[in-house]
Amino acid sequence: MIIQLQTGLPQDKKERIIEKVNALKYKTTEVNTQKGDYIIGIGKSEFDIREIGQIPGISDIHIVSDDYKLVSRKWKVNPTSIDLGDGVVISEGDMAIMAGPCSIESEEQINKTIEHLKANDVRIMRGGVYKPRSSPYSFRGLGIEGLKQWYKAAREAGIKIITEVMQVSQIEEMYDYIDVYQVGARNTQNFNLLDELGRVDKPVLIKRGISGTIDELLYSAEYVFSAGNENLMLCERGIRTYERASRNTMDINAIPILKEKTHLPVIADPSHGIGIRDYVEPVALACIMAGADGVIYETHEKPNEAFSDGQQTLNFRDSEKLIAKIRKVFELRESL
Ligand code: PEP
Ligand code: MN
Repeated sequence: MIIQLQTGLPQDKKERIIEKVNALKYKTTEVNTQKGDYIIGIGKSEFDIREIGQIPGISDIHIVSDDYKLVSRKWKVNPTSIDLGDGVVISEGDMAIMAGPCSIESEEQINKTIEHLKANDVRIMRGGVYKPRSSPYSFRGLGIEGLKQWYKAAREAGIKIITEVMQVSQIEEMYDYIDVYQVGARNTQNFNLLDELGRVDKPVLIKRGISGTIDELLYSAEYVFSAGNENLMLCERGIRTYERASRNTMDINAIPILKEKTHLPVIADPSHGIGIRDYVEPVALACIMAGADGVIYETHEKPNEAFSDGQQTLNFRDSEKLIAKIRKVFELRESL
C-alpha cells in the first residue's frame, strides 16, 4: 500500500500510522521526496482500507498490487512531467528530442553540435564524458573538465545537458553542470548508484539493462523514487537477444507496456537500440507510434570520425531530417 501523508506531519502522528500498519503485519518504509511524504506498506494480509484511511494525517491511501509501488500507474494515474526549466519540459502529450554525440570530444565538436541543435530548435543535448566501454583501451571520455566546457557553451545557448553518471562519486562532481543524470544500461542495477541518485534533486533517466526485463527496469526506478527522487524517466535502448544482424534488438513492445505500467515518461533510444545508422530513423519513428514521450539519439558532424559509436551516429543532415520526421509522426500520432 502507498499512504500519502499530509505535508509537515509531526513525527508522533507518523509513528501512530506506522504502528497501525505494522499491526496489520505490513512492513513499512518511510519515503520523503521533493514532492511528498509517503509510507509504503508491504504485506499480504487482507484488511479494510478504511481502518487506515481514517487515521488523522493521511491525505490518500492506495492499494497497489504491483511489486513496485511508487512508479506504478495504478497509484498515480496522472503522468509525471520533468521540468528542466526555461520552458523545457518532458511529459506525456509532448515529444522530447535529445540529441548529440555518443562522447563529448572537443570544444569544436561541442560548438558544432550546439549550432546544429539550435538551428533545429532542439533544447536537450546528450553526450558522454564518462564512457562505459566494452574494451578498456577504447576512448573513455573527457571527464569533468570536458563537462565543464560543455556546460559553459550549452548554458550560453540555452541548451540542457543529459550525461551519464557511472559511479556514486561523480554525482556531486557533476551536479552543477548537468540537467539530467543518465544511468547507463550497464548500471541499471547498480543499486548503490540508484540509492544515491535518490538523494539528489535533479532528474534521472534510467536506461534499461542490456539483459534486463521491463520489471527490473521498473524496480530500478523504484529504488531512486523510494530514496527520495521523483523526477525520473525510463529509456528503452534495446536488449541483447540471439539476433546478430543488429547490435541490439530494440524492444518496441516495452514502450506501450511501460506506458501502461508506469506514470514516468518513456524515452526511446533507437541509436543503441539497433546500432546501425541507416535504420535509426525507421526505428525512432516506430517508437513514437508505439507511444514514446521522447527520443534520444546520437549525432555528430562527421560520424565516421566519432570517438565512439560512429556506426550508429547520424550526420547533421540526416539528424535534421530525423528531427522533422519525429515532429511529423508525433503530430500524426496525436491526431489519430
Ligand atoms: C550512451 O548513451 O552512449 C550509452 C553508453 O548508452 P547505453 O548505456 O544504453 O549503452
Ligand atoms: Mn553511445
